[in-house]
This record gives sequence, structure tokens and C-alpha cells, in this order.
Amino acid sequence: MKEPTTMKTKLIVAAVCAVAAAGCNTTGPSAGPTSGRTLAWAPGSPIPAPAEISTNRYVIYAPDGSCKITIDTTKATDMTDWAEHRLAPVLAEWYPMMTAIMPTPGYKAPTNWTVTIAPGNGVAATGGTRVTANYTWFRTQMDKEGPFTANEIKNLAGIVDRLRKQSDPISAYLWSQLTGAQKATLKSYQPSGSDASEARQVVLDVFNKIVPEPSIYQPARFKGIHLTYETLALLHQSPKDVELSHVNRLLLQDSYAAETTRRHLEGVGALVHEEVHVVQQYGGGRRNSPAGSLSFGDVTNYGSLVKKLQEKADPISAFLNLQMTPGERKALTDYKGPGPTDYYSRTNLVAALNRIIRGPGLYDAALFKGVTLRDTTVSARDEKPEGSDLARLNRALLEDAYPVELVRAAATTTTAGGGARGGRVDSGWLTEGIPDYIRWFIYQPEAHGADLIYFKGKADPKYNGLYRPSAYFLNYVTLKYDPHIVTKLNDVCRQGKYYEAVWFDNTGKTLQELNTEWLDQFHKDSVAAPAPAPAPART
Ligand SMILES: [Zn+2]
Repeated sequence: MKEPTTMKTKLIVAAVCAVAAAGCNTTGPSAGPTSGRTLAWAPGSPIPAPAEISTNRYVIYAPDGSCKITIDTTKATDMTDWAEHRLAPVLAEWYPMMTAIMPTPGYKAPTNWTVTIAPGNGVAATGGTRVTANYTWFRTQMDKEGPFTANEIKNLAGIVDRLRKQSDPISAYLWSQLTGAQKATLKSYQPSGSDASEARQVVLDVFNKIVPEPSIYQPARFKGIHLTYETLALLHQSPKDVELSHVNRLLLQDSYAAETTRRHLEGVGALVHEEVHVVQQYGGGRRNSPAGSLSFGDVTNYGSLVKKLQEKADPISAFLNLQMTPGERKALTDYKGPGPTDYYSRTNLVAALNRIIRGPGLYDAALFKGVTLRDTTVSARDEKPEGSDLARLNRALLEDAYPVELVRAAATTTTAGGGARGGRVDSGWLTEGIPDYIRWFIYQPEAHGADLIYFKGKADPKYNGLYRPSAYFLNYVTLKYDPHIVTKLNDVCRQGKYYEAVWFDNTGKTLQELNTEWLDQFHKDSVAAPAPAPAPART
């Protein structure tokens, strides 16, 4: 809290999060394995060092060692067990994935951050690397796991098939736990028949019989099963410290990941949202980016820039072309205009320019003949700068050489509230929209916390409505236009370089056009959709 420049941002984030998260506890539980979980610990790699417990400060490391998370329950001692066994492994498992979704060239996400659970207001808030969670709310979110329920079985036929064939050690073990009558029920089960409810009940019965038992873990029994870090982190602890029924439940969820819906706890989901804020560090990234770096948003006309570089249209373009690697030059050839398919071309182009900016001085009288240099560029050049000042000069020289194609760094810091291309416009809704997108569409999509099921029958969502509405909008654009849009938006927001045409540049549609389309689709889907499914039961 010592940097006055970031203080205001922190306070705003703290204030709004509390409101948003408070709304989160009104939705149902649930969750599920998602493609996003694949960055977790992989079998065969070393299990990280055991978490250390010292009084009520608990330390856990991300599976790849990329960060250390401390959870302090000194003022909430009855939540220590929940914090260590439910919360900590999830935060540790998800941190590397979040940093992978939200990179910025030269930016390093915090490697050390804390969660403090203590009496307070609202639900949770984040300032810099400190997350605070309100004990009064979180204590109501403990111990709501309960038995497996019917709506967690999403592929009954798949489970029955594995059990009947005893096709893997854990399925063979479960089969051995069935009575003769239960086996008969499963043997006579036909996926197309009408006896599904009996078979489903047998599966639930055996799952729920196993859950409260002593740990079912034996290495041979889970050979071939991808165990999540959440599970491994608990297995790594002394059994007396761990609630065995929780471990057994996780083991079953991992074993039947494709056939069951993974259940997530709301309290953990609320802190996954806060964890995204730790990675975002909007307002802080600029300090950490190398001097002079370009972000995706600094290139406002990729088409024109690519054309000039390809055609070596002028001496500086010919020079830059020569400095590029064959792969980078291929990115120029591959570029096909605005749209999601050109993400890698853009990435390569920006990376190439950043490499050149950080290299030797670009100024050469012959190269810049015909380029009008700003007075500030000329005086910077005459200073004969070195190091990061040289990088800034190189950036300014490129801006002068490509006035139509590149944002002028000076302009981006002085144009406030402008809607013009290159001007800065309000992006505050993304600060909360991105964490809710990651929470509701990547971490716990089965909860349907921000999609059609959630919004059907409610007033029209607004793209800039923060939290769930903005998350819904981001998901629409991600699925329909650009799978990398959240990555790009985060990058420009983190660097304080958000500009509204970033939408056009990446989708070929303006923000308003996208908004209209999204709402039209919402109205159509609302009519077509069946009545909302009953919220998954919470026991
Ligand atoms: Zn928030």
C-alpha cells in the first residue's frame, strides 16, 4: 500500500469485489472437469514439497513451483481445516493455469501471495498480493459436500460399462463391493432401457458407501488414473490431518472424471475469482514490462503494417524485414486480416518488434529519410541514450515511422476517456468480467453461474455490467470469434493500453455490433431453451 499510484485501484477493486462475490452465494453448487484442468500436475513429475503448517499460517506451492501461497486463519481457527484441505490445493493447482491464460510479454505474475480469513465485510477483496476473505460469510460455506447425487452422474452407461467389465483396478474394486443383487441390476442394465433409475441408484449407493470409509487409496488401484493436484496434495499429507471422506470423494471424481460432474464449493469459487485479481495486477504490469515494449493493443492497424513490412515499402520497412527470423517473416505471409485465426501472426509480429526495440539503436539518417520525427524523438535521439532509454527511443522512432499503424505511447498516457482509436476508454468492467469468466466458464462451468441458464428470465445482461454479465459476453465472443480474446484483453488492460477498437481488430466487429449480436442470440436462445433445470440439490 506504499505506492500512491496503485492505492486507488486497490481500493476500488476491494470495494466492488465484495459486492460481486456476495451475489455469488445465491447460485447452486457443482462443477466439473474441464479442459482447463489439464495444466495440473502430471503423473511422473515430482510431487512438490509438502505444504508446511506453522500454527495458523499454512503454506502451499503451485505444482510447478511458480508461486507460494500462504493462508492465514489465525482469526478464523475453525476454518483452518477447510482452508488447508479444500481451498489451498485448488488455489495452488489453478495458479499456473491462470498465468498461462493471462500472459504479457515481460510480465511476471506475483510469486508470493496471501489469503487471510478474518471477520470483515462483504465476501472477499484483493489488493496487490493480499486477498482478504470475510470469515462471517466463508464459515457458512464449510462442510456442504454431502453424498453423491443423481445429477452428478452425467454418463451412467459409461460408469456401468466400466464396472461390469472391471476394466480398471478401481472399477474392479467397486465391483467387489457390490452385493449379488446390485451386480444383477447392473448386468441387466441397458443404456436404452427403462431401468436406468435402478442402475443409477446402485452406482450412487456404491459411491456413497465408499466415501466415508478409510482411505481407498493404494497406488496400484489408481494406476492409469489422472489424479488432480487437489487430490495429490491431500494424499501427500499425513492421513490423520485429512478428512478421509473428502479424499475418497476426490479419488472417485478423478477416477470417473469423464462420467461424473465435478463438484466445486462456492467458497472456493469465490476465492478463485480473487486469485485472478492476483494474476491481473492491472496498473502494476506497466512497471514490470520492459521499457518501450509494445502490447497487442499498440498495433492499431495490423493489415497496413504487415503490408509495408512484406513489400519493404520504405527503407525502415525493408530494414525491419531483414531483422526478422524466417518464422516471423512467415507470420507476415500468414496474416489474413482481422479475425481470430491471426492470433499467432500478431503474437509473432509484436514479439519481433519488441526484440528489435530492445536491440541496438535504430536511428540511421538514411533509414529515416522521409520520416517526420517528433521534436521529443529528436531530442531523445540527441541524448544518445542507452539501456531502457534506448529502448524507449527505438519505440518512438517506430511510432514516427508508422504513425497510422502504431499507437503513440505519449498519446496513450494523455488521451483520457477518448473513444478514438488509440484513445483510452473505460475498461473497468473487464477488471471484474475476466475473473468471473475464468470462474464460471473455466473453473466451474457446470454451476451455470453466468450463462443462459443463469440469465434466462432475468433482465437483459449488459456487456459492461461487470462480473457475470461481462463474463457471459466474453464467453460469447470467445466461442464465436476469438478463443484468445480474454488473453488479449487482459494484456492491454494490464498495460493500461485498452482501446475500444481492440474488438474490431480481433473479431472484425465493433464492440457495439458484438453487443447487439450477443443480445439477439440471448433472446433467441431464451425462447428456444427449455425451462431452467432445477438447481442441483445442495445437501
Ligand atoms: Zn473481483
